[in-house]
Amino acid sequence: MKRIGVFVCHCGTNIANTVDCAKVAERAKDFPGVVFACDYKYMCSEPGQVMIQEAIGEHNLDGYVVAACSPRMHESTFRKCAERAGMNPYMVEQVNIREQCSWVHADKTKGTEKSIDITRMGVAKVAKNEPLFSTTIPVTKRALVIGAGIAGIQAAIDIADAGYPVTLLDREHSMGGKMAQVDKTFPTLDCSACILTPKMVEAAQHPNIEIVTYAEVEAVDGFVGNFDVTIRKKARYVDVNKCTGCGLCSEKCPKKVVSEFEMKLGTRKAIYVPFPQAVPNKPVIDAKNCRYLSEGKCGVCKKVCPTGAVDFEQKDELIVERFGAIVVATGFEQFDISKYEEYGAGRIADVITGLHLERLMNASGPTMGKIKRPSDGKVPERIVFIKCVGSRDEAKGRPYCSRACCMYVAKHATLLKEKLPAAKSYIFYMDVRTAGKNYEEFYARAQNEYDAQYIRGRVSKIFQAGDKLIVRGEDSLLGRPVEIEADLVVLAAGMDPQQDAKDLARTLGISYDQHGWFTEAHPKLRPVETHTAGIFLAGACQGPKDIPDSVAQASAAAVKVASLLSKKELTAEAQTARCDEAYCSGCGLCVSICPYKAIELKRISERVHGGTRERQVSSVNQGLCQGCGACSVACPSSAMNLKGFSNDQILAEVDALCQR
Ligand SMILES: Cc1cc2nc3c(=O)[nH]c(=O)nc-3n(C[C@H](O)[C@H](O)[C@H](O)COP(=O)(O)OP(=O)(O)OC[C@H]3O[C@@H](n4cnc5c(N)ncnc54)[C@H](O)[C@@H]3O)c2cc1C
Ligand code: SF4
Ligand code: SF4
Repeated sequence: MKRIGVFVCHCGTNIANTVDCAKVAERAKDFPGVVFACDYKYMCSEPGQVMIQEAIGEHNLDGYVVAACSPRMHESTFRKCAERAGMNPYMVEQVNIREQCSWVHADKTKGTEKSIDITRMGVAKVAKNEPLFSTTIPVTKRALVIGAGIAGIQAAIDIADAGYPVTLLDREHSMGGKMAQVDKTFPTLDCSACILTPKMVEAAQHPNIEIVTYAEVEAVDGFVGNFDVTIRKKARYVDVNKCTGCGLCSEKCPKKVVSEFEMKLGTRKAIYVPFPQAVPNKPVIDAKNCRYLSEGKCGVCKKVCPTGAVDFEQKDELIVERFGAIVVATGFEQFDISKYEEYGAGRIADVITGLHLERLMNASGPTMGKIKRPSDGKVPERIVFIKCVGSRDEAKGRPYCSRACCMYVAKHATLLKEKLPAAKSYIFYMDVRTAGKNYEEFYARAQNEYDAQYIRGRVSKIFQAGDKLIVRGEDSLLGRPVEIEADLVVLAAGMDPQQDAKDLARTLGISYDQHGWFTEAHPKLRPVETHTAGIFLAGACQGPKDIPDSVAQASAAAVKVASLLSKKELTAEAQTARCDEAYCSGCGLCVSICPYKAIELKRISERVHGGTRERQVSSVNQGLCQGCGACSVACPSSAMNLKGFSNDQILAEVDALCQR
């Protein structure tokens, strides 16, 4: 029988106020296998740990139970403490008599009884613990950043500056993300391109950064330190190595279509560079609209290209590369405003979104920076802004705040007044949220110096009357209906996760919340890590964010990546799943349930009645397994067990509870 110690912590008065710790220790002395038990004010403190180490030596302990706070808090403290005394760290169990007992109960007698039960269960479990040993895995010193918006660019530059090679990948033709579409940025009103372009160029010219645009991640295998990523490089139909970016092809291409970058307010050719500062500044052919690729006619671009760069035969390319760490920085997309039928969005040409207005205000936009209504090109005089369109609206399934809209609406009102001094802005709002450095001052200036009129209330209807738009709503401060005759309505469309964010999450094996935002490992303490080791988050893919927050998170993710890549080797999780092949029926349930894609079926041959039989069993990749335990719960044959949490151990705990 194992020799077990029990150490009961008071956690100051946190536990001791509701639990008689001395009594718990006293009762623990009678539990099977317990040869020593004591209580102490702070077990995690230096003297507390010394006391444990001395007891391990003096009583020749094989394992011990600490009855204290949550294992999330101090499990590693007590494991290290055991290691220092020469005990295998997995021979330690921490049972939680604080969050699960003292903090949720007021009655000391009952609290003490429950603590005794919890401790007895811990002792029963540790009696069945086996020493576990971590293995080490090598680290590929290269990172992949998915998404080259401002967050991805910043993360890539920081990782590259730390000395590690980075592949910065984006599915669009150029890097830049939404910031490339934005005209000026709050709260400083500096031109977005002026601060973004140098970053894009810096990334493109960095010796440690490889830019891969017009590409997507198709599959991810492997595990932290060694992710094998399959990347689809889509056919551009232009050999970027031969192309000099002269632009002759786009000039001569006869096919004009609406430009996605210009929010359909402008046009582009079938062979095009999405915007003048695009990086890489090489064209791509939009196969759907190209006359040659869709109808076999034309081919003008190929004829005029002086370097023979146009290549209609180009095909998508699949490459597999290994990376040690991955940063996901895939950003957001604008909420689909057509879901607000009452606003005429998608039906009335002059009801637009903030991103449309950004393009109308931009000097290199479709109107060369002149603000004109999409319907008739008239300069608007009365502009109504509506905030929280697709944000903080339970009915539309968007209960969250999009965080940047309050500020960008104040920015739009300010810039409009600068461009059109005779114009008047009306802003319908629920609240104004300006929690950022210099944000409140910026909002106050929009009202006081730029004549923005804020109206608290919601708009119920927008309709066309002649060439005007009638905006009908309610001023909830004055408690009366309000109607404004407007020339242009701008909806502050909220931020939505990318439509395919969930697919990417499944490919990467990371989790997402009910809306589709990728989830961090811990909202306060691990805000840039995912639950999958080696995969980090940056920017608005984790939740709505403005540029300063996206950049800050990107740099934080880069530090995490650099610290991971700086290691010679990584220690693999010791508490992983193990399949007992003798019991495995090869049903494959565990394969489909494992969120980390750590299990596969393999064929084994075995001797049966003098012959050989082949059958299928599960096999766990110890590097990929994160020890979540989902497979052991799903396994109908009890073949799958989590080391340190085996069915046998859990049943022993249940038995101990029933022995009360
Ligand atoms: C109208 C408007 C005005 C704004 N004005 C301001 C402002 O003035 N100041 C401010 O601080 N913030 C502003 N913002 C917010 C700002 O746009 C965001 O904070 C910023 O764009 C977030 O950067 P990001 O890199 O996280 O995401 P994004 O800019 O969305 O970039 C994400 C990138 O990832 C790529 N991507 C997506 N999915 C994949 C995939 N599966 N594979 C590969 N690549 C992928 C995209 O193509 C894109 O390039 C504004 C937002 C809007 C809508
Ligand atoms: S072949 Fe296609 S891309 Fe080239 S010029 Fe003709 S339509 Fe434009
Ligand atoms: S004409 Fe040829 S070299 Fe010039 S931009 Fe087009 S593809 Fe590149």
